[in-house]
Amino acid sequence: MQCSKCGNPKVIIKKEQSGQYLCKDCFIDSIEKKVIKTVRKEKLLDKGDKVLVALSGGKDSVTTLEILNTFRELNIIDLCAVTVDEGIANYREEGVDIAVRHAERLGIEHKVVSLKDEYGITLDEIMQRENHKGSCTYCGVFRRTIINKAAREMGATKIATGHNLDDEVQSIMMNYLEGNTDNLTKLGAKTESKAEEFTVKIKPLREIPEREIGLYVVAKDLEVHFNGCPYAMQSFRGEVSEVVNQLSEKHPTIKYSTLRGYDKIKNVLKKEMQKEYAHGRCSRCGEPSANDLCKACSFLEELGV
Ligand code: SF4
Ligand code: ZN
Repeated sequence: MQCSKCGNPKVIIKKEQSGQYLCKDCFIDSIEKKVIKTVRKEKLLDKGDKVLVALSGGKDSVTTLEILNTFRELNIIDLCAVTVDEGIANYREEGVDIAVRHAERLGIEHKVVSLKDEYGITLDEIMQRENHKGSCTYCGVFRRTIINKAAREMGATKIATGHNLDDEVQSIMMNYLEGNTDNLTKLGAKTESKAEEFTVKIKPLREIPEREIGLYVVAKDLEVHFNGCPYAMQSFRGEVSEVVNQLSEKHPTIKYSTLRGYDKIKNVLKKEMQKEYAHGRCSRCGEPSANDLCKACSFLEELGV
């Protein structure tokens, strides 16, 4: 077996989509080119943008930071990063340390915000409550609120997240299966909220399969936090992920076709189904909200904190 591009006999991967065999250098090159292609095709960046990377220290966010840094080196954009510490014992600490080291290595502005400091409670403490709604429900809402706030405080014009192909396909399938058409309208490479206070979100890795990002960080020798969240398999997302991965064994291009299919109907969906958002403010924290209380504050009220 030899590399389909350069003939190097040291092949490290057979690509799922194209069936190509690639050596290390050609593989790294293929990932970086594909991300740059997504950035151009979806118009994810504008010259002069200050992009805030939601940096957990895991493979996806570290890869996002690494590849976006090439745009920074070309003086096209500026970069900064925020790391949210949810308070998950024996899991998050390592990711935070790794995130700090990457930000220092690249010399970018970086902020670590913990749920404990921001809201007075950790995710582990929430999970000890009897009637909790599931870890990911709180984690997603609190993280989103913290990242949006950090973007405003740091003067960011875009927020980049590390969502990969697998994440996006899981989100599409989950929302179909749950009949959640409102959430379905919010997916895509670039998410713009109608409320001005919400910064535009971009997903540069949206077309890269998760396993290829895993291989990319190994090939580039990037320090990342590989352990999974202890709550991950309790989630509906975990169950959907298992089904999609099982299907992909027999149908290797199914993740791409799900994404392409969604992209074809996305604009119609947005036009027909997207809700009008009231431009109100949360009466407790002042963040933009369609209701009297934003989602984060209504959870805090229920939790009594
Ligand atoms: Fe948070 Fe759920 Fe992800 Fe764990 S799996 S980090 S609880 S969203
Ligand atoms: Zn609020």
